[in-house]
Amino acid sequence: MRIQCIHAHFDDFEFVAAGTFERLRRRYAGNFRAEVVVCTDGRAGHHRMSPAETSRVRQAEQAASAAIGQYAWHCLRRPDGQTFGEARVLSTELLASLWKCIREFEPDYLICPPLPYDPLCGIHPDHVTVAEAVRRVAYLINVPHAFLEEYPAPLESTPCWIKTPVILHAFDGYQGSGGGADFGINVTEVMDVIAEESWCHQSQIREWLPWVARHGIEPPADLASWTRQLSGRMSRETARLANAFPIATGQVLETFTVSGWGSVADVGRLEIDFPGFQWSLGGRDQVLRRQAGWAEA
Ligand SMILES: [Zn+2]
Repeated sequence: MRIQCIHAHFDDFEFVAAGTFERLRRRYAGNFRAEVVVCTDGRAGHHRMSPAETSRVRQAEQAASAAIGQYAWHCLRRPDGQTFGEARVLSTELLASLWKCIREFEPDYLICPPLPYDPLCGIHPDHVTVAEAVRRVAYLINVPHAFLEEYPAPLESTPCWIKTPVILHAFDGYQGSGGGADFGINVTEVMDVIAEESWCHQSQIREWLPWVARHGIEPPADLASWTRQLSGRMSRETARLANAFPIATGQVLETFTVSGWGSVADVGRLEIDFPGFQWSLGGRDQVLRRQAGWAEA
């Protein structure tokens, strides 16, 4: 089992997929590789620290989270080796860099943010750009010479056949849950790990996010109060989906939508591959109907 999460910022992973990764890690143990790719270097996201210091702090925070979750991570790098300060522009460099990092990891499942489902909902531009970029490179994953200008292929090299992953969309807090979800992973039993990993992002949860004042986050005093705050947030988010997911009160789900951007998912395999897997009401039929449409194309 190889799973890759590609997202815009430090901490995005912890808020959408950390519990799913932890449940997978526990199930597959040694037969598991997990990677988190952060498409920006964090330099733009703090109100007091300099951009260079912010980037250093953010990378140290992600490394601390990765040590707890035992996943690999890196900032996305441009073809010239530099990181991206922001991901607002859908540049050829962004596409080429994503293409390369997906090919190198060759995941079975790739998790990324969704595109907006509703023109009236708010967005974070970096999230939408990353989503659009993943969509635009998905077909090219197994095209060896797709970005020859950025990554010139050596002459007479033998192209490798690269597996195209199933691409799943994570929940996006900027858009809310109005778009629904196809399935959820019950992460209640690993809530403590999600809290510990996200607690590593001190410059965000105690400084930046309260300062931005768009996320309803109160600066937590300690890990215990952060765990309570985060559990409350995730439970309320899950409760908003109560009509879509028949789950007991107090349970917490990370939710996902199945796209056809990459390989078309085998729904039976999804049920088997993910521990704590639960379809939303009608979710299985909804995915099968969608897939029937894709197959016609
Ligand atoms: Zn983000």
